[in-house]
Amino acid sequence: MNKLDFSSHKIVCLAGGVGGAKLADGLAQIVPPQNLTIIVNTGDDFEHLGLTICPDLDTVMYTLGGVANPGTGWGRAGESWRTMEAVKQLAGPDWFSLGDVDLATHLVRTQMLKDGETLTAVTRHLCRQFNIQPDVLPMSDWPAPTLIETDDGTLPFQAWFVKERWQPPVKQVVLPEDVRATPAVLKALENADLVLIAPSNPFVSVAPILNVYPIRAMLEDIPQTVVAVTPIIGGQAVKGPAAKMMAEMDLPVTARAVAQYYGDLIDGFVFDGQDAGSLEGLSAAQLCTDTWMHSPVDRARLAQDVLTFAMQLAGSE
Ligand code: GDP
Repeated sequence: MNKLDFSSHKIVCLAGGVGGAKLADGLAQIVPPQNLTIIVNTGDDFEHLGLTICPDLDTVMYTLGGVANPGTGWGRAGESWRTMEAVKQLAGPDWFSLGDVDLATHLVRTQMLKDGETLTAVTRHLCRQFNIQPDVLPMSDWPAPTLIETDDGTLPFQAWFVKERWQPPVKQVVLPEDVRATPAVLKALENADLVLIAPSNPFVSVAPILNVYPIRAMLEDIPQTVVAVTPIIGGQAVKGPAAKMMAEMDLPVTARAVAQYYGDLIDGFVFDGQDAGSLEGLSAAQLCTDTWMHSPVDRARLAQDVLTFAMQLAGSE
């Protein structure tokens, strides 16, 4: 596909793992890399077996680097699992799967962090090794753990998501206070012409990014056009717990409810053809298109639709 002429447009995409990585990949196919920054949720990060694990950063990195496992939505293609088998044999914690090759990422990251590098520097270093040209940035260099409040108590995100297979009903998502954005994130947002919110989980992927000071305030105050893409299609999530969480938090499981959740923060909302007619009366401008990204070609097509819509909105503001 030809690169669109975005030479004068700086684009920032806020992303979680699965839905975020897919749209990021579509954008990377059509936007010149120097004009594209992906700001990634690190609220899911945790320490496991002594290693710093950054699931969403890795999903975005492996996807953009062309080494992701397309079947799982996490980890690398062509993995082997000998280390995990050995961990299990030693009665170690085997509830979080780390593939043999994937482990190298966590080892290098953990060592570099221990040596005093920032997560931003480590992420850029790792992305260079995968020949990834757009700037992939963690939302913060400091820990910002997301917690999930359930009937049985409050769980760290990965304990709820992976260990408990997101089954305990969610009462509330608890985000940390006083997490600050990095200079790199601030600069990207200051320079951005268009900010896209990927079709990521609004509550546990996008909200943690918006919670990082002063990202939400910047999006509210600065003149860039902000466009979100729905993760809910036909009343269901494509993958993961977004729909189940919405029901548990007494929200209608609809694209409309996602748009209302983002409220005045967004200028435009992209939703799926399956939901045509269900978003009338919203204040945000709307684009109805095919939002299900089954293939790399779908990703680029959706990215092109979203950017064309966002540029039209930017031109009319
Ligand atoms: P996570 O951090 O790995 O859970 O990943 P994200 O939050 O980035 O992505 C999860 C969300 O992506 C889910 O709510 C899915 O419904 C959504 N999603 C995944 N694939 C697609 C797709 O092809 N199209 C749309 N519209 N949403 C998608």
